[in-house]
Amino acid sequence: MQVVDSRAGARAWVEARRDGGGTTGLVPTMGSLHEGHASLLRIGRENSDHLALSIFVNPLQFGPGEDLERYPRNLEADLEVARKAGVDLVFAPTAAEMYPAGEPWVRVVPVSGADRLCGRSRPGHFEGVLTVVAKLFGILQPDVAVFGRKDFQQLALIRRMVIDLDMAIRLMDGPTVRDPDGLALSSRNQYLSAVERERALALSRALAACQALHESGEENPAVYREAMQGAAVGGVELEYAEVVDAATLAEPAVVERGTVCAIAARVGSTRLIDNTVLGIDRIDGAARGGGR
Ligand code: AMP
Repeated sequence: MQVVDSRAGARAWVEARRDGGGTTGLVPTMGSLHEGHASLLRIGRENSDHLALSIFVNPLQFGPGEDLERYPRNLEADLEVARKAGVDLVFAPTAAEMYPAGEPWVRVVPVSGADRLCGRSRPGHFEGVLTVVAKLFGILQPDVAVFGRKDFQQLALIRRMVIDLDMAIRLMDGPTVRDPDGLALSSRNQYLSAVERERALALSRALAACQALHESGEENPAVYREAMQGAAVGGVELEYAEVVDAATLAEPAVVERGTVCAIAARVGSTRLIDNTVLGIDRIDGAARGGGR
């Protein structure tokens, strides 16, 4: 496994692979890797000959007052996860390396799809995400790139970027990996105290309730929204609870298999997001009552 921190080093790796042929897969991350990231690396490993992992906490996608400075960083542990997953290249640049000319003048700005859900409370976030993903695609030139459905709005916008800008990349996605009690794995879970972690189970419980509604045949989006809003109890401050079409991000008239229920909330000072695809995802732990 090769580890590089420069764009030149990454490009040299890309050039060397090009001579030998084979496809390249990329899994972009912000590091502090957990089993969710590892599951995406497995998808990448199975679907490409050469597998690259990027680790970069992208300042461009953090707003003022967000957790850029305290975002968990742990390169040594990440390299161990990468080695076990059979990664060939780890690209872990600094911000100065990624943005050598400073604030980029030219960015990928979504004109639709970023004004709702997470975009409402995080203006400029998806612009930062799409810009860095486009840069990573430019540097590592992957044939395949793998993203998690955990960040489903991000995934929808990246899908549109690839279509709208004609990027020759096959996108693949992986399901959300959860702790046994239902909590979606997130690098930000490290911020939670024991009490907050228990409270955070309200999110996956709300989504499990949505799956149960779907199983009972409920088709009215408002009923799902109300069920999720009911989860905002005891130290969980709801930011949004929405029912959306996975591709258009608009609320469907009728809820059906494949509709997404998405929720964002603050637990203490930690912002958490989660979602479930109705009739497709399973939230076992939460369905059992959050492991309590
Ligand atoms: P991050 O490091 O949080 O920026 O995430 C990097 C990639 O991992 C993104 O495509 C995320 O959607 C994905 N990811 C994060 N958490 C999970 C999870 N619990 N299960 C599956 N994928 C995840």
